[in-house]
Amino acid sequence: MAANILSVLLSPFTQDNITGFNILCSVRCQVLVVGDLKFYAQLLGRENMSSSWCMWCTAHPSDWKYHPIPTADRWTIDKIKQHKDRIDRRELREARDIRGIVNDPVWDFIEPENYMFPQLHAEIGLVNNVLDKFYSFIDDQVEAISPEEALARNTYIMADVAVCNATQALSDWKETEGPQLEFNRYNRIGLTKELKKKNQDQRIIMELRQQQQELDTMIAELVNNRKALETDVTLKRKALTTAKASLKAIREKKRKLEMPVFSDIENILLEYGITAAAYHGGKLNGVDCRELLTLAKTIFERFKTCLLSVSHPERCSDAIINQACDLHRDICITLDSLTSKLRMKQGEPQENDFQLADAYLVNLHYLWTQANLSFTPKIHCLLNHAVEQMRKYSGIGDTLEDDVERIHQISAKIESRVSRMKNKGQQAHVHSKMEAIQNCSLVREKIEESQQASKRVFKKRNLDVCAVRRGIRQKKERDESRAETQRYLEEKPHQQFLSNHDKKKAEMMNGTT
Ligand SMILES: [Zn+2]
Repeated sequence: MAANILSVLLSPFTQDNITGFNILCSVRCQVLVVGDLKFYAQLLGRENMSSSWCMWCTAHPSDWKYHPIPTADRWTIDKIKQHKDRIDRRELREARDIRGIVNDPVWDFIEPENYMFPQLHAEIGLVNNVLDKFYSFIDDQVEAISPEEALARNTYIMADVAVCNATQALSDWKETEGPQLEFNRYNRIGLTKELKKKNQDQRIIMELRQQQQELDTMIAELVNNRKALETDVTLKRKALTTAKASLKAIREKKRKLEMPVFSDIENILLEYGITAAAYHGGKLNGVDCRELLTLAKTIFERFKTCLLSVSHPERCSDAIINQACDLHRDICITLDSLTSKLRMKQGEPQENDFQLADAYLVNLHYLWTQANLSFTPKIHCLLNHAVEQMRKYSGIGDTLEDDVERIHQISAKIESRVSRMKNKGQQAHVHSKMEAIQNCSLVREKIEESQQASKRVFKKRNLDVCAVRRGIRQKKERDESRAETQRYLEEKPHQQFLSNHDKKKAEMMNGTT
């Protein structure tokens, strides 16, 4: 249905017989899709595969960590369809080749390049990634832990090292013994062919059989070695999964009281009106994400003071706390700088803005790598496709998903008001009545009028209270602070940030402990 309506809209304007309207003027229009990555995945035939592949390019997730990324093809509707055909013909079988495609695109008249970068969702996702990473640093290196958790952590590290060693042993075997096994098998095929020849001398037959037996023993031995190594890897992997799960269980069992540092951190956030709701898995909403980004400098300074005041024997050094706070602060400031450019409306950005945005991307990639944050589809599309789209449309600030989200909220509000009505017909009637009232321009005007009337008018005496002036001053301050961070980051001042787990694992692998 939607497809039909859109097809009509997209068809040449002369077809007024379809719509029945008179044409006054023709305006070039372009259909853009705005939504979150999950919605895009559904539309582009990747239902349930959204977490692993990019909607715009064919780059493999293992390449996402590079900047600039190795050149990758751009998806088009035709390419997706051809790809689906090849999968149906079973020409493509490996996950690596299938690239997440499971179906034909639902709307095949809108090219993937017209799917807009989901700024709001990406911002929320990425800020939460950063905050989660910062929380895990606190949990890992600042918060005091129980002996039980310490034991579980060590078991996990040891299991991790064991898996690495076992995998290494298997790949070593494949490099050294593997070719020998292939060679023996090849020789054996030759011997079998020889033995099948007719009128062979009995003595030669005996000799060939002898050789065949020797080869069989060697082959069996090599195969057994490989199997033993493979079993070892499987067992060690299982042990790793168990160790990881039991550490997670211990962490989840922790109560608020056992995590004093976390509560301090969350209280600081609350002072700025940011609710990080839960101690585990609590996510910031869009407004709170914005606030954290804007106030990053101040907030992370507060975090630093708070973390430095913690004292117990297992806490990491002051230097590490400073490093962690500065690194996460800079990620937030860079994200803020970048999103401020992305939010510029069509026609606003100048060449200077694009150049700055590109520079922010380089910094963001650098910081993301230093913080050991994972390269998710969201960060991939921010690094690779967002600024590109911003250039293409000379600004994409008008295509924020905020409006869609707002309509969702309005609809949910009405829904909740009528949900208890038993008569379904009446329910639908009241629903559309409420919607009509809300959309009525007369009602809107009146609401606006009364809101304006109830607003306080500030006198110009106190310049700081005047919202417009304050806004300009704050913007100036923010721009200066962003530029300062940008200059500072060009020196690449951050070290690779490692968790206790990474450090101890590296030590164990190098045999220093
Ligand atoms: Zn991509």
